[in-house]
This record gives sequence, C-alpha cells and structure tokens, in this order.
Amino acid sequence: MRNIIVQKFGGTSVADTEKIKNVARAVIREKNLGNDVVVVVSAMGHTTDLLVKMAKEISDTPSAREMDMLLSTGEGVSIALLAMALQAQGCDAVSMNAIQAGIMTENLHSKARIIDIKTENIFKHLDEGKVVVIAGFQGVTDELEITTLGRGGSDTSAVALAGALNAKRCDIYTDVEGVYTTDPRIVPYASRLEQISYEEMLELARVGANVLHPRAVETAAKYHMPVRVRSTFKLENLGTLMLGVNQMEIQRPVTGVASDLSQLRIVVCDVQDNPGTAAILFDGLAKENISVDMIIQSYARKAMNTNDIAFTIDKADLDRTMKILEKVKENLHYSNVFVDDKIAKISIVGAGMIDKPGIAAKMFRTLADLDINIKMISTSEIKISCLVEQSSANDAVTALHRVFGLDCDTKAVVKGDLPPSV
Ligand code: ADP
Ligand code: ASP
Ligand code: MG
Repeated sequence: MRNIIVQKFGGTSVADTEKIKNVARAVIREKNLGNDVVVVVSAMGHTTDLLVKMAKEISDTPSAREMDMLLSTGEGVSIALLAMALQAQGCDAVSMNAIQAGIMTENLHSKARIIDIKTENIFKHLDEGKVVVIAGFQGVTDELEITTLGRGGSDTSAVALAGALNAKRCDIYTDVEGVYTTDPRIVPYASRLEQISYEEMLELARVGANVLHPRAVETAAKYHMPVRVRSTFKLENLGTLMLGVNQMEIQRPVTGVASDLSQLRIVVCDVQDNPGTAAILFDGLAKENISVDMIIQSYARKAMNTNDIAFTIDKADLDRTMKILEKVKENLHYSNVFVDDKIAKISIVGAGMIDKPGIAAKMFRTLADLDINIKMISTSEIKISCLVEQSSANDAVTALHRVFGLDCDTKAVVKGDLPPSV
C-alpha cells in the first residue's frame, strides 16, 4: 500500500534560497520515513503582493485573464527552485505546473474552483520514486486557460491534491506553530489549539483567520482528510490537527476570535419597499459573481414606502458593484449610495456555543464596555459576527479573547513580517 503525504509550504517558508534549502530538508525527512511525498508550494515571500502592485501601476482595471497569467508566475519560480534544491541534496524530484499536474478548474478567473485533478502524471513520477513538487494557487481550464484559486489558494491546491491522491495526511507548513485561538500577530497571548474541527475552522477561515484558505477546509471536510497546520521552522512540533467534530471533546463555548478587514459596507438609501427590490439588486450582483456577506434591510418608512438596504462585499469588488448599482437605479429608485471602507468584521466561533445562551450578550457587552458601536450583526449556529469601526478592531479582538477565557501564559512565535500594503 502506498503512503502518500502532501506537504504544503507557504510564502514565508520559501521566501529566499536558504529557506528553500531548508524546505528541501523537511521534504527529505518525510521521504526518509518511507512516504511518497507530493509538495505544494506558494510564491516566494511577498511575490504575489508585488505582482499585484506592478499590475496596478500599469492599469487601474487589468483584465482578470492577464492578472491570472501574471500571478501564476510566482508559484512557477518556487517549484523549479525547490526541485533543484531537492536534486542538489541527492533527492530525485520533478516540478509540475497546474497544466502538467492536471489541476482542472472552472472557467472563472481569480477565484476558480477545482473541479477535477487528472492524477496520471503525478502517479507516474511517484512510481519512479520521485518527489513531485506542484505549483499551488494555479489551475487550468478545459480550454487551456490559466486560472487562480483566490488569494491564499495554495492551501486548497494541497488539500485537493491530497484528496485526489488518497493521501494519508496533508501537512500545511507555515510561519506559526499551528491554528491559534486568534491571530497571534494581533494577540501575542493567543493559545495554540491541539485540534480543531472542520466546521469551526471553516467558520474561522471565512471570517478572516487566513492561516487556512476556506475552500481548503471545505475540501478537507469533503474527503475527511486529516490536515495538520504546523511550523516550517520547528519541524518536530505537530501543530494543530484538523478533523471531524464528532472526534473531539468540546471544552469551551468559544474556540476562536477573528477579524476581517477585507470588506466594505454599502448602504443603498431610500429604495422602494416593494416585493422584488432585493431580488433585483442581489440578482445583479450574483450574475457578476460578487459575493455578498452581511445584509440588513431597515424598517420601512411607511409615508414614503421606502427603506434602506446595507450589505458588505469584498473591497476588490467595489468598482463592479458600483457599476451594477448604476444599472439597477431606474428599477430601485434609490436616492443615494454610501460606501464605508473603514470597517472590520469581528467574529467569535465555537461549536460549544450551540444551545448555550448568553454568548451573544457577552460579546455585545464586551464591545459596549469598550465604547465600540456595532453597525451590523450576523450569526450562524457556531458563529457571531459584528461589524465595527476598523480602528477598534484590535481592541475588540483582544478583549473578546480575554473575556472568553482564551488567553495563554506564553507568547506565540511568529516568523516573517507582514506583507507590504498593496
Ligand atoms: P502562508 O504564507 O504560509 O500560507 P499565511 O500568511 O497565509 O501563511 O497564514 C499564516 C498567518 O495566518 C500567520 O502568520 C498569522 O498571522 C495568520 N493567522 C490569522 N489567524 C490565525 C489563527 N487563528 N491562527 C494562526 N494564524 C493565524
Ligand atoms: N501566492 C498566492 C497568494 O499569495 C497563493 C498562496 O500563497 O496561497 O495569495
Ligand atoms: Mg496562506
């Protein structure tokens, strides 16, 4: 029986050639344990951010196709360098881009989903005893168009490959020692979790815990794939194991706290309070593949037969959203549109909050004590999110982390610096 391990190394782990040599040692260590190893790598350091910056210097509205052509080059560099580093250390290795590895996606630029992985080529190289180094983040369509999976998407490439290859485990190596109760860059006393369920991790990833790409978590849950998030710089540590909720013991109502600064709020004022108004607006957005997160419709002003609709979207979708609002204006008859881009979504997540009353009240009280105003609220079975002023985000996360009993006695270790602002 084959024992395949998929290892994924993020940007910080391959930031320079010394680090790439270090990654090669980690790969050989896994191979020497008797496993077949498939490695997925991200672009080196902040390469993807720098490529985005260059594109913006050329055009305000670069085409989505050319953006994917550009951004996919980052991973192309790291696969070749890592394969060379492995060969230099005496390990037979081959690099593969998405076309060679058969990572087939839907025909959608910048956030494509993987629909199939044609694994024959990968197995052929594994059969020859090679380590296979595959470019994360990129995919290819049936028409040979290059796509990308969305920022942070190499995690998804790794987990999808692990599923398709029927791997024993997928290890996500990064610059922190696992999944923490919150971002250790914001709260140094964040605690590392030994285990986390797919369900909780999915909510945390969706509300801003960028340690794992949300679609990677969905894919792991689909394949019941055990995933370890662990440090490239402390290989002996086992990090955090992600697995099914029924395999875990729930100890606390809240498992983690996250903040998301990537969204903005749009308020459409004085729309007609008639059946179909929201449908026209959100149909328009859906047709353009724009995802809406939080939505609030105000109480109707009877005299005028109008109300306001507020919603949040990704900052990157602002221009396209404004164009759609312009298009639907004659149907919605709104008076004004306000854009608020200085917001943060603060969320608490935990399977333990199911059937436990008082968790939302405690969150709202904590924010009130800090004099933080809540602009919008949304909930799911295991998550409560509040939209607040961006300037209050870190104070809110720190206080909620403490109030829900998540502070640890020792500081977390974080390698690498923050990305340059693009
Ligand atoms: P990589 O380049 O390895 O993919 P990322 O920057 O995408 O790394 O993800 C790791 C980062 O995720 C950490 O440096 C940390 O700042 C951030 N992060 C956010 N929330 C969490 C969390 N709950 N646990 C651990 N890290 C988190
Ligand atoms: N290089 C891509 C990014 O920076 C993909 C990844 O690192 O996961 O978003
Ligand atoms: Mg990442």
